Amino acid sequence: MSLIKFFSTNGHPERVDFKRALLIGQAPDKGLYMPERIPNIPRSLIDKFPKMSYPEIAREVVKPYLGDLVSDSVLQAMLNDAYNYDVPVEKVYDEKYVLRLDRGPTCSFKDFAARLMGRLIQHFLKEDGRSILILTATSGDTGSAVAHAFFGLDNVKVVVLFPEKEVTERQRRQMTTLGKNVFPLSVEGKFDDCQALVKQAFVDSDLSALNLSSANSINIGRLLPQAVYYFFAQSRASARGEDVVFSVPSGNFGDLMGGLLAMKMGLPAQRFVVATNENDEFPRFMQTGVYEPIQPSRNCISNAMNVGRPSNLARLFCLYGGQMDETGHVSKAPDLNAMRKDLYAVSVTDEETRRTIKEAYSQYKVLLEPHGAVAWAGLLRYLKECGDYSPCISLETADPAKFPEEIVRATGIIPPLPPAMARLDELAELYDSIDGQYASLKDYLMRFV
Ligand SMILES: *Cc1c(COP(=O)(O)O)cnc(C)c1O
Repeated sequence: MSLIKFFSTNGHPERVDFKRALLIGQAPDKGLYMPERIPNIPRSLIDKFPKMSYPEIAREVVKPYLGDLVSDSVLQAMLNDAYNYDVPVEKVYDEKYVLRLDRGPTCSFKDFAARLMGRLIQHFLKEDGRSILILTATSGDTGSAVAHAFFGLDNVKVVVLFPEKEVTERQRRQMTTLGKNVFPLSVEGKFDDCQALVKQAFVDSDLSALNLSSANSINIGRLLPQAVYYFFAQSRASARGEDVVFSVPSGNFGDLMGGLLAMKMGLPAQRFVVATNENDEFPRFMQTGVYEPIQPSRNCISNAMNVGRPSNLARLFCLYGGQMDETGHVSKAPDLNAMRKDLYAVSVTDEETRRTIKEAYSQYKVLLEPHGAVAWAGLLRYLKECGDYSPCISLETADPAKFPEEIVRATGIIPPLPPAMARLDELAELYDSIDGQYASLKDYLMRFV
């Protein structure tokens, strides 16, 4: 079979292979890369997944996109190394599960993407004897996951922009206590501002000597690893191989795109609940067919989902035959009926999120944090409205200890600190700050030239 090529959602005629898409991140016309052809995983292979380990399933899902760019043995070693932690599928009641994606080194689901992407990038850079600067914006968890994934590598520097007032102290500490090749940068502004600054730097030719690369969820290398855990969870939760309903807490929609890619590859999935916080531009679009970004984004307690104009909607629209550019302008409407068939979108308020944390704990002794609670609340609403016919899996994307204040407030208990975060509160922090102007970011970056 021929190697899968990737095209830009903005329509640029050039097609690139996985290696190139991974290393440049964003297409030259500011579009996002999508696979030209989505490979199918045969049902006979999916039926074997219940007996396979996480890294083994990951190999089957990722390999078709890589072709022979990475040898089988190198890929399997990378996957074994990247996914050396637990992925619990925890039963809540009946066939309702919480998928805990928070056992990686930075305790958020972003470790899944960052750890494989980091290893792939490192592999390709070594092959070419090159170095790069990873420039990325974070709403809370990407920054630390990416920083940890690249920490200590010789040929990679990482600059992470974060909104100064919108990350929790522990989220910040996970980035600012590393040092070495990791440079955290606090920005006066919101996540969307950080994202806009990063995008501007990418098209600034004065910075081309830096070999900028993005590790945001706009990078296709972040997306593919996020298709894997859907297959894994389905194989563990669905005893008879039935289709599963997934509930996905969504901000920039990278997690959801991983799931939809998996579905197009053959994942036995019934439907996806797309659960947002009060940044409800997508649920409103699904109702009305009119897309209106939210500007500025609303500050909710599920802070990693405070995104008013999700980048990955460009991919989502593309998957359903539409086109959206990098400014959020829709030049071709997607097939709304097909989207409604696959997706059930809900917006969950902070009040409902807090109540959900409280009730999940008092009813089931299941400890959720704000992002996972948005998904669980979305699932409950789906079950009420659409009926209860399938096994359901709700994604829990961070460890509750990252949000101690909210957990104590809702449940009265102090979430235990996972081993990966044990010393975090004691380590010294090191980071720089800039205002929200592009000129300030540029000055800062020029020092690396
Ligand atoms: C980033 C993040 C999300 C949102 O994921 P997207 O891919 O941006 O939709 C949800 N929960 C947590 C804890 C996150 O860090």
